[in-house]
Amino acid sequence: MCGLLARVAHKHASLGITPDQYQVVHDYLMWAIAEVLGDAVTPEVAAAWDEVYWLMAYTLIHVERGLYSARGVRPQTVWRRWEVEQKIRETDDVVTFVVKRVDDRLVKSSLPGQYVTVQVPLPDGTRQPRQYSLSRADDGECRQFTVKRVHGAGKPDGQVSTLLHTQVDVGDVLTMSVPFGAVVLDDAAGRPMVFASAGIGSTSMAGMLSHLAKAGSHLPIVLLHADHDEDSFALCSQILADIAALPGSRIHLWYGRGGNSRLPVTGVLPGEMDISQVSLPDDATYHLCGPIPFMHEVRNALIKDGIPPQDIQYEAFGPDLWQADYECSPTFRRHR
Ligand SMILES: Cc1cc2nc3c(=O)[nH]c(=O)nc-3n(C[C@H](O)[C@H](O)[C@H](O)COP(=O)(O)OP(=O)(O)OC[C@H]3O[C@@H](n4cnc5c(N)ncnc54)[C@H](O)[C@@H]3O)c2cc1C
Repeated sequence: MCGLLARVAHKHASLGITPDQYQVVHDYLMWAIAEVLGDAVTPEVAAAWDEVYWLMAYTLIHVERGLYSARGVRPQTVWRRWEVEQKIRETDDVVTFVVKRVDDRLVKSSLPGQYVTVQVPLPDGTRQPRQYSLSRADDGECRQFTVKRVHGAGKPDGQVSTLLHTQVDVGDVLTMSVPFGAVVLDDAAGRPMVFASAGIGSTSMAGMLSHLAKAGSHLPIVLLHADHDEDSFALCSQILADIAALPGSRIHLWYGRGGNSRLPVTGVLPGEMDISQVSLPDDATYHLCGPIPFMHEVRNALIKDGIPPQDIQYEAFGPDLWQADYECSPTFRRHR
């Protein structure tokens, strides 16, 4: 199955999607197709759309059944309640939540790179789910995730991130899914690893580094991270502690606004990440996380340097528009 469908299946499983919901989506999708395309939707065209939809839907239903089964849950039981034990301010816009189990079921280990869906009730009575990467390896009792508050800047503020920042505190109870996520670290091959992140993409990297440090990994690790400045670098203390605990690992930072570093790192580069400024290990695997244009640029630079595309994984913090909107678009050039 292609990477895109695997990502969709994991996201669906983290939302507790059931097979019968595919019929609901089908009906609205077919209605929308007819509405938009009008007379162009002949019975033959409608039948073709119908067939393609169900081919995809049955593939997803099958994969999602396997995902639920592997975790010993049903769509209705992916949810569990957690009490907020700590709310840690990382930067002006980023907080970390450490949540503790409130039932007597042990916290099963997540895979490095996975996320949970957090479901919050909104004032209008609806429940909104959002995914958050686990930003630290689980310890059997707690899970940790880290949230950037989304400011609307002329548009509405982000609903869930704002609510988590302003209304959820220590002692509150959150509803969270069991962890899912198709983009996970595979250190079995024993190859060096390069992590490249920007902004809030540090959450996913922090989670993976934490797993490696906990496992006592000796693999060569290079972390590349770009941020506005040191004050906006979320999870930097945890990341540096894990880098220090991993023999043979190193970190390179780029600050868009320039400035010096108070952190014990050798050299911070000004401007946007430019991988040609640092030496990278041979035969490494690569993990990218950050805004899609950032990942696109880094991936292009790596491919230009001869890195095989299959050695470059990425996690997108939103609908996976990479291939649809960027790879296939002749108009895409530069971003920030
Ligand atoms: C796998 C995965 C992992 C993730 N991990 C993390 C993580 O570790 N940390 C993290 O902070 N985030 C993470 N995210 C992103 C997170 O899930 C949310 O998308 C993010 O918190 C924003 O949610 P929100 O409810 O605050 O914003 P939303 O309310 O969903 O708004 C999103 C955007 O839409 C705009 N918008 C809303 N309404 C309108 C409108 N009417 N017109 C125009 N624009 C509008 C808002 O201004 C905002 O820019 C992850 C996402 C995925 C898919």
